[in-house]
Amino acid sequence: MGRYDESKKSSGAKGKKFGHVGRVEDPYLPEEGQEASLCSDCNALYQNKRWFYDEKLAQRLAGTAKVRQVVCPTCRKVKEQYPEGYLTLSGDFFAERKDEVVTLLKNEAARVSSRSVLDRVITMTEIGKNELEVKTTTEKLAQHLGRAIYRAYKGELDFRWSETNPLVRVYWTR
Ligand SMILES: [Zn+2]
Repeated sequence: MGRYDESKKSSGAKGKKFGHVGRVEDPYLPEEGQEASLCSDCNALYQNKRWFYDEKLAQRLAGTAKVRQVVCPTCRKVKEQYPEGYLTLSGDFFAERKDEVVTLLKNEAARVSSRSVLDRVITMTEIGKNELEVKTTTEKLAQHLGRAIYRAYKGELDFRWSETNPLVRVYWTR
């Protein structure tokens, strides 16, 4: 039977680099008189300290003085290759069914990313024949994807949290 261990979550301080909780100055706040900040890379909007997608609002605001052009923390993490989650898939079963498993993974990641600005896959890297490493912008997404694979295929799922950084390593093997 599968192992499903989530008991090791640390309460370590969140990193400050990308404007997590605890940061005093908010680098993404719109300036006075502006309605929102807009990511020039992914069109995400920032209003009331929250990131979201709204194509109509983005189109209306783009290029006007009512919006502040920024690069959102998610796009910065992708550019700078700064993952907060790792998911490693491995095993003989995975090697046999790789296409199917990876398709499920990509669909699930796309579904989550279309709703949540913060959650995005940074890279997927094949390591040899039977291993794949997925880097994600959040701990949440790596955990979510690991659970989705586990729900679909069983196997073994393990979570390891960093003591100091916002960083989780999720391992699925079958
Ligand atoms: Zn962005």
